[in-house]
Amino acid sequence: AIEITGLRKSFGDHEVLKGIDLSVHPGEVVCVIGPSGSGKSTLLRTVNRLEEPTSGSLRIEGVDILDPDCDIDAVRTRIGMVFQQFNLFPHLDVMGNLTIAQRRVLKRGKAEAAETARAMLERVGLGDRGDAFPGQLSGGQQQRVAIARALSMNPDMMLFDEPTSALDPELVGEVLDVMKLLASEGMTMMVVTHEMGFAREVGDRLVFMDDGLIVEEGIPSEVLASPQHARTQAFLSKVL
Ligand code: ATP
Ligand code: MG
Repeated sequence: AIEITGLRKSFGDHEVLKGIDLSVHPGEVVCVIGPSGSGKSTLLRTVNRLEEPTSGSLRIEGVDILDPDCDIDAVRTRIGMVFQQFNLFPHLDVMGNLTIAQRRVLKRGKAEAAETARAMLERVGLGDRGDAFPGQLSGGQQQRVAIARALSMNPDMMLFDEPTSALDPELVGEVLDVMKLLASEGMTMMVVTHEMGFAREVGDRLVFMDDGLIVEEGIPSEVLASPQHARTQAFLSKVL
């Protein structure tokens, strides 16, 4: 579980997160929407402390990850992250991309890392592309490799930051299908997305952020059909 309480983050004088309270329970899929600049990426990045919060509390599986004594590297291995840009290593083939962190961070042996990598590639429908280099793959395939790479670390939860926003429209579905599969298997997920169909179908909860605050949250179909707050209404009228 992720438990965020009173979380604030400033860059210089600019307060980007203004007191966020949000819990993500085991097996829950929380989708986060909101206008550009509202702080969605910053919120996601603070969850594994890629950004240091200015104040507030942040617990992952009950562990206070803002505690100076917390082993943040150990926590990070439990949290998979997938970005808009796939961030694959271009000079490594797909198997290399999926095994390098398993070997270096988890100290897995070569055979075990390769076996895990192959299993994860199968799950994302790319079991036959282990020898390909990222540049030889479509954007949708590259993003599925990025998801498989994160899964190869056997994370407890996955954070997605607009995973389909850089894709051509016809490639979005194959990535959403993989995310849907993970959700159905009970993966805890926090997903920043513009895909309202995915949020409605797969999300357990929809969170609308604006100007560093959670303005509204609820069951996705209900928030989408009858947003209560004027700012949510204005945003949805533009994107739906
Ligand atoms: P988008 O939908 O465009 O991705 P977002 O909701 O993810 O937007 P953030 O990327 O979290 O928004 O940014 C929130 C605000 O924080 C923006 O005003 C942005 O300029 C600012 N910001 C983000 N990262 C930094 C940084 N490293 N230094 C200074 N300001 C930053
Ligand atoms: Mg963002």
